[in-house]
Amino acid sequence: MTVSRVEFGDVLSMTEDELASVMGTRGASRFRGRQLFEGLWRLGIQNYQELTVWPLALREEMTQAYPFQRLRQVHEETSPDGTVKFLLALKDGQRVETVVLPHRYGYSVCVSSQVGCAMGCKFCASGLKGRVRQLTAGEMADQVMYADQWLKQKGQRVSRVDVMGIGEPLDNFEAVVRFLELIHHPRGLHLSYRHMTVSTSGIVPNIRRLADQGLPVTLAVSLHAPNDALRSRLMPVNRAYPLHQLMGAARYFAERTGRRVTYEYLLLKDVNDRDQHAEELARLLRGQLAHVNLIPWNPVAEHPFQPSPSGRVQRFQRIVQQAGISCTIRKELGQEIEAACGQLRLREEERVSP
Ligand code: SF4
Repeated sequence: MTVSRVEFGDVLSMTEDELASVMGTRGASRFRGRQLFEGLWRLGIQNYQELTVWPLALREEMTQAYPFQRLRQVHEETSPDGTVKFLLALKDGQRVETVVLPHRYGYSVCVSSQVGCAMGCKFCASGLKGRVRQLTAGEMADQVMYADQWLKQKGQRVSRVDVMGIGEPLDNFEAVVRFLELIHHPRGLHLSYRHMTVSTSGIVPNIRRLADQGLPVTLAVSLHAPNDALRSRLMPVNRAYPLHQLMGAARYFAERTGRRVTYEYLLLKDVNDRDQHAEELARLLRGQLAHVNLIPWNPVAEHPFQPSPSGRVQRFQRIVQQAGISCTIRKELGQEIEAACGQLRLREEERVSP
């Protein structure tokens, strides 16, 4: 397990071994730690009283010493394509969005890694009000757990996890790595690393750090522009880490993990969707273990961009593919429920404080 700080009492962020140590220091058997881990991650207990394999006195002692609170649903929206978006309240009242998406192979869950975001991408609702705070590993894992419990009622389970919701995951590096390890744990949710994706707007040093962790997750780079001038305009992070550094780190990730890097490319009409952009993109990625995922723009009222016409989206794809680069168009899931990250949280805030 990667070393990272866990706040006192944050049992949802603790590994099985850490919980065993906590129980040991309280004079209980270390085995109680294992029972607590399974209770939290397999049974989804909401409080210690539900852990009925424990004696009542221990449940009451832990309720006092290590209180925890799971995520609470504030709002739920379902779109006709089956995408479900949850607005979930954290213990301090802050809110995050978690999205469950149906696919041919099963269900994926899109997890938020921060409340708000500091990266300030010009097309994104989450960045509009800046970063409020980091999420803990337990708060991220609880989003997956929430989605999994919800799916279980339909006889389904979470089969993929994408850390692509609100926030820049690599700006919360240690908690995100701990989160990935928690949901991979065999007595937890037991999800394969190969079914996890971590996105980034391009924090170069932490892409290299992630590669060095040796976790075979997929890296999704939010690219959105094929040259520095345009990318710096759309994504301020590019001024700190320009494209040649980003490409170097992405290549390093692919070499270290053997995993193909995915490049997310949002298509904005007349901004980054012309033939010349597709050609530049193909040149940029030539020779890389890469896949391009084109994303039709999902309009946000606060931003001036327009979606590219579908003919232009297809033409863009053809140019990239003709250069020998794998390229798909993402199905627009959940457009009816404002599925671009941060939109639901933003609307909810506006409802509460107009
Ligand atoms: S696109 Fe991602 S990194 Fe950029 S502001 Fe939005 S949440 Fe942050």
